[in-house]
Amino acid sequence: MNKNYHHFHQICISAVVFALLFVSLAVAADSYHGDVKSKIFHNADCRDFNCKSCLEIFETRDDAIEIGYRPCKKCKP
Ligand SMILES: [Zn+2]
Repeated sequence: MNKNYHHFHQICISAVVFALLFVSLAVAADSYHGDVKSKIFHNADCRDFNCKSCLEIFETRDDAIEIGYRPCKKCKP
């Protein structure tokens, strides 16, 4: 009885860890949006983050800079 409970508890912890990992990956994968017309990228706080031409998505600011995007002057990503 005690052993079964312990096993169940471990499964619960694993599920929580997995869920947190999944959520953090999903958030990290959508950190910056790049404007394909102006070649400027924004962070998630910027009001231009979801602009009409902000179709490029970057995981890190280095990814954006590497392919020629410049950081927005308003949100300073
Ligand atoms: Zn911006």
